[in-house]
Amino acid sequence: MRSTMQDVPLSLRRILEHGSTVHAEARVTTWRPDSGGPRTQTFAETGANAARLAHGLAAGLGVRPGEPVATLMFNNTEHLECYLAIPAMGAVLHTLNLRLPADQLVWIVNHVADRVVVADAATAPLLAGILPQLKTVEHVVVVADAVPEPLTAAAAAIAAGETGPTLEGIRSAAPHLHTYASLTDGQRIDYPWPDVDERDAAAICYSSGTTGLPRGVVYSHRSVYLHSLQCMAVESLALSWNDTALPVVPMFHVNAWGVPHAAFLAGTSLLMPDRHLQAVPLAEMITAERPTFAAAVPTIWAGLLAELDAHGAERGYDVSSLRTVVIGGSACPEGLMTGFQRYGAHVVHAWGMTETSPLGAVNRPPSRPLPDVDPELYRSSQGRVPGSVQARIVGPDGEVLPHDGASAGELEVRGPWITGAYYEGAHGVPETAADDRFDDGWLRTGDVGTLTPDGYLTLTDRAKDVIKSGGEWISSVALENRLMGHPEVAEAAVIAVPDEKWGERPLAAVVPAGEAVDFAGLRAYLAEGVARWQVPEWWTEIDEVPKTSVGKFDKKVLRGRYAHGELD
Ligand code: ADP
Repeated sequence: MRSTMQDVPLSLRRILEHGSTVHAEARVTTWRPDSGGPRTQTFAETGANAARLAHGLAAGLGVRPGEPVATLMFNNTEHLECYLAIPAMGAVLHTLNLRLPADQLVWIVNHVADRVVVADAATAPLLAGILPQLKTVEHVVVVADAVPEPLTAAAAAIAAGETGPTLEGIRSAAPHLHTYASLTDGQRIDYPWPDVDERDAAAICYSSGTTGLPRGVVYSHRSVYLHSLQCMAVESLALSWNDTALPVVPMFHVNAWGVPHAAFLAGTSLLMPDRHLQAVPLAEMITAERPTFAAAVPTIWAGLLAELDAHGAERGYDVSSLRTVVIGGSACPEGLMTGFQRYGAHVVHAWGMTETSPLGAVNRPPSRPLPDVDPELYRSSQGRVPGSVQARIVGPDGEVLPHDGASAGELEVRGPWITGAYYEGAHGVPETAADDRFDDGWLRTGDVGTLTPDGYLTLTDRAKDVIKSGGEWISSVALENRLMGHPEVAEAAVIAVPDEKWGERPLAAVVPAGEAVDFAGLRAYLAEGVARWQVPEWWTEIDEVPKTSVGKFDKKVLRGRYAHGELD
């Protein structure tokens, strides 16, 4: 028997129309310390601007349904308009990670065959530098009063054939350059948004390549809609119309963890940091705009906490508006949780991936903990997997392990906002390495951990980062988190180095908080918290832990540096 329910597609159009009418008075504010103070507009105005943009893209640039449109932008008002307009008109939003190395950006744009790129004035120089290599880009739209000089110069050089040797595929025709205003001014504030099949593409995002080359994931209207509902759920991010959310996590990093879409659906006002992601402007914008919710990777929060601790009183910071601080993207060190609690903010630890939209697990401790689960685990774990996502732990021989809070193996997940494949690119070249990422319809996450019987996930490591010593596994994350709880340590990364006897042994690379660190003291301190055989025998002091384009520890770089166990 079929149901009698109406088959109404779940779509970004619905999110746009609902947000801009029912939540017409909610606001999006972009922080602009240097040019006239913050810029604010309502969701109603955002909806009208999204319609103007859609007209500009369709009538002005010939954008058709199904076509990707790239953005090279920070978190700001116009990026939100792109987020809504591009999928709602049936095109596909392709967010470009502006921190990727130039060669990876070029590879991604050519892989997707983007014809239109929307950029900020601040990213124009970056775009200008790679423009000659972007084979398919015909139109560049810049949010600026006039097209910035680096772009006009790059386009002129292309037109004059002055962009170096004519390698195969290098372009010869210059792209057309537009300002955002020239595309949107005078356009109608309503748009005949089409009814899109809910399984069609809404957005494309490439992973940031922490452990390999970037890979493309294509979100559907349905997956974004369902994921937005999950972001509103109380056991999850609990976004509501009573909140103002500060997504510090970039909009090019897994859709800013779903916050912009969910905010428009829920009526959550948004505070957009634009390119002001350093501790001082963050503290200033939180003090001035009083968001209740914020989300970012641990490195951002560690910087903010240090600034609050060092200068909070003297500079008059007030972060007491923060109800929820979501920390994810890599494991949340204990010190961060307790640190933000001192300021009255509740830290919510969450786990996810580009491949999982990203909400996989969110830590809201239960009111009725199981008696045989360590209470500490409930507080510090990556959290509980929601009802729509199934999770299992798989051992080295492919056997499914019990959810007993102790059996560790690779985490596999499936669900309506989990990818089932990788994007093959505009030319349909299959992702050769993708086969080993799926297991009978489940996504292999590459993360190693345990699940409790009541669904709490604890990650011990990434499969590639775990240290295999004499047949036992040592969690690099556990060592790092403990080390970063020591007052002499600002940052610490632990990697495996080859060892003749044990296979691998841990090496700790430590950034001192002050002048220097005492390694013997740190060894003794670690030995109080972990088994003695897990304590690293190799130690080195470094100025900074290398970071990826989204601010995570880049252990690939460290591994390259210490590949042979030599210390410099
Ligand atoms: P990339 O894989 O390029 O870093 P993602 O943002 O998709 O880009 O990273 C997903 C990975 O980040 C996960 O597979 C996991 O290893 C790590 N991660 C995310 N959240 C957490 C967390 N709360 N604790 C530990 N690791 C996390």
